[in-house]
Amino acid sequence: MENKFVGSIDQGTSSSRFLIFDHTGKVVTSHQIEYSNVYPQPGWVQNDPNEILSSVEDSVEQCVESFVKLGHSVSDIVAVGITNQRETTVAWDSETGECLTDAIIWNDTRTRDIVQRLTQKDADSEIPTICGLPLATYFSAVKMVWMLENVDAVKKANEKGTLRFGTVDSWIIYKLTGKHVSDVTNASRTMLMDLKTLQWSDKSCEFFGINKSCLAEIRSSSEVYGQIARGALKGVSIAGDLGDQQAATVGQLCFSPGEAKNTYGTGCFMLFNTGETPIFSKNGLLTTVAYQLGPNEKPTYALEGSIAVAGSAIQWLRDKVGLISNAPHVNTLAESVSDNGGVYFVTAFSGLFAPYWRDDARGVITGLTQYATGGHIARATLESVCYQTKDILDAMNADSGTELKKLRVDGGLTNSDLTMQIQADILGIEVIRPEMRETTAFGAAIAAGLAVGFWKDKSEIAGQSVTKLFISTISDEKRQQMVSGWKKAVEKSFGSV
Ligand code: ADP
Repeated sequence: MENKFVGSIDQGTSSSRFLIFDHTGKVVTSHQIEYSNVYPQPGWVQNDPNEILSSVEDSVEQCVESFVKLGHSVSDIVAVGITNQRETTVAWDSETGECLTDAIIWNDTRTRDIVQRLTQKDADSEIPTICGLPLATYFSAVKMVWMLENVDAVKKANEKGTLRFGTVDSWIIYKLTGKHVSDVTNASRTMLMDLKTLQWSDKSCEFFGINKSCLAEIRSSSEVYGQIARGALKGVSIAGDLGDQQAATVGQLCFSPGEAKNTYGTGCFMLFNTGETPIFSKNGLLTTVAYQLGPNEKPTYALEGSIAVAGSAIQWLRDKVGLISNAPHVNTLAESVSDNGGVYFVTAFSGLFAPYWRDDARGVITGLTQYATGGHIARATLESVCYQTKDILDAMNADSGTELKKLRVDGGLTNSDLTMQIQADILGIEVIRPEMRETTAFGAAIAAGLAVGFWKDKSEIAGQSVTKLFISTISDEKRQQMVSGWKKAVEKSFGSV
């Protein structure tokens, strides 16, 4: 396998990338294309599925070009895995193969009224016990309901029987191979899959009014789904499919129950491996499939804490407020002050997800005085994701009955040493940042590589060496004082809509 490679499509919320890994798990070459979503109204986030697709295909073309320039050949790529922004929903027509409306992105909140209506209908909360998720704007089923109620082309295709719904993995695999499939991890984010049978639930589909024939075939995360029929990778099999957070869990090699990772990207997501049985949270966490590495393998489940806004708050400071000129600049500004000066920023732009699940929350900055500077606001922005991580970790510890001692981290925002130090201070446990931070893409590569025998089994996959360990430098008393200031600020964000 020395001269063989695995490719990984990483379709994120703000960019699409293609990376090529060698057998030791090293990135040989990669290409990234950034793009912007569209915000037509407050709370709405959407994008053209064709643009998402072309950003993927363009990054593949560019990356393969540089791979060939390095002296390799496309036939050296044994398989491709895909990992994707989850919950984002695409509708297309099976007759034309064309999308019918813009994709509704995961953090869009236009479905608030639908969620309220459905919550009244599901008074006994039966649906969450089937799918492991609370009724919230976040998940795909409510986005499908919105499209069925508001987009004529979707309604008509539904009547004709040609409507197809999919998460972004499904859309891309469909366009590249012609197959309408998804994997258990992506399907577990729709509210339509029964967590125990790993099949579409009749009860859930009926509840949301979604025709099962519109949905993808659910497959494991690691098997050959089809061959790519066009572009630079023509003929290569797609053999891995995982939602981005599940892929990061695999990429961080969190294969044992009790291991957890936290990924700080546009949003921030902690997954805690709970083994072969799903644990239903009593503390506002989600129950989800972590991975199923082969059609004959048992699924592994996870508890998940989701934070809607992490890196996107930094982008907001840059693009909408103009406080910083680029993402790394937030660190220099935040370092200009020694603490938050009493300023807290609850970045509830899309409500608050776990463990609060308050869609009536909106962003608030509290504790402002004449003394406050841009530095305090920058620091409060970085602290916000760290406090939200603390809220989630407390819920995880309560649900699992064990105290997590170490947190493995990855994602764009972990480039910030300051944020990771603040995180260790606020949590009071070790924060471990791996050298190879492409863990999401690596997870999808692992799934694809295992499916085609590139790696024999999980034990053959090289671990990542720890480069940096962050340890708390503050006292318990100081930590409690900081956290209690945060809790007060969170209260103030509620009831804003
Ligand atoms: P996604 O996969 O969700 O598209 P990434 O993992 O690529 O996101 O992370 C992108 C985020 O990381 C951006 O929102 C950006 O603000 C943040 N980021 C990247 N580098 C830095 C840095 N040096 N300091 C602070 N934030 C950073």
